[in-house]
Amino acid sequence: MAFELNRLVRDNIRTLTPYSSARVEHVGDARIYLDANENAFGPPVGIRLNRYPDPLQASLKERIAAVSGVDPLQIFIGNGSDEAIDLLIRIFCRPGVDNILTCPPTYGMYEVAAGINDVAVKHARLDEGFGIDVPRVLTTIDRNTKIVFLCSPNNPTGNLLSHVSIRTIADAFDGIVVVDEAYIHYASRGSLVAELAARPNLVVLQTLSKAWGLAGLRVGLAFADADVIELLNKVKPPYNVSEAAQETALEALNDPRHLNETVKRTLAERKRLTEALSDLVCVERVYPSDANFLLVRVADASGLHRYLASKRIVVRDRSGLTGCEQCLRITVGTEQENDELILAIENYEKSLIH
Ligand SMILES: *Cc1c(COP(=O)(O)O)cnc(C)c1O
Repeated sequence: MAFELNRLVRDNIRTLTPYSSARVEHVGDARIYLDANENAFGPPVGIRLNRYPDPLQASLKERIAAVSGVDPLQIFIGNGSDEAIDLLIRIFCRPGVDNILTCPPTYGMYEVAAGINDVAVKHARLDEGFGIDVPRVLTTIDRNTKIVFLCSPNNPTGNLLSHVSIRTIADAFDGIVVVDEAYIHYASRGSLVAELAARPNLVVLQTLSKAWGLAGLRVGLAFADADVIELLNKVKPPYNVSEAAQETALEALNDPRHLNETVKRTLAERKRLTEALSDLVCVERVYPSDANFLLVRVADASGLHRYLASKRIVVRDRSGLTGCEQCLRITVGTEQENDELILAIENYEKSLIH
């Protein structure tokens, strides 16, 4: 069956009358704002923070459009990309009826967001090399599967997924295909944003939380067909991205030098850390990474995790995930942090001998 957006959307969302503010309804530049019960005398801090922010983030979208080569109408901005994940599930999946599909081992938020919304999750696990198993995905989908979540580069495995496989799924599936590109700036291959024009069912997620260095700001992006973006705007909280976040994000996007420089340093450190870890006796495998972290299989993941924690170094134990047995996920840190990590693991090995 062909992709048909209107058929895919939940009835209550299709017929919903969204919240509308007086400021959006006013056309043209106003002189005096007495419509939103703000404090007209101003805030204790921040020049414009007494005013509600632009609900559709026009200036920020204009800038992102220029950077990403898409139309502003193809951009949704959320309170982190986690908000976009939740909204997509709520737009398309009827609680207790519909389901989403994920490809584990992968990012945990798809499953959590589905659970919160009482939406079931189907699994089509990645193959041995952490690639998409296309036949398994296509046979696991059923008539109530509304969204397929793919993560590329994948968290926690670090690898890119094949563009050919993603296209095959997007063509064969009449629901939404979400490709989460949170780590795309660290990858050796480019974004799928360029494919949006040809694929009305594709949603690409990106974020300012990783390479842009702004995890604390909470700004996530979804790129999609304008009709899908319209649905996201319809269901989002009206003021989901604060004025402080919009202004700071705009400032950051106007200066991509910091991003370029820190990505370069991260890639150099990723290589150095890969080599240093590979030389350690307790390390069995460092998986290749297109992200800013390494998946590392060790002899005793929980033992090493505990040892590092005792030295106040926190890494992520991913042993519990099928396919990631005895694996730690280690973020690439600064040069000095990585040196300290390696030294600590060397000391851990010595402590095992004595
Ligand atoms: C870190 C991460 C995100 C980012 O989420 P935000 O809400 O934008 O901070 C999204 N997807 C994946 C796979 C991630 O690892």
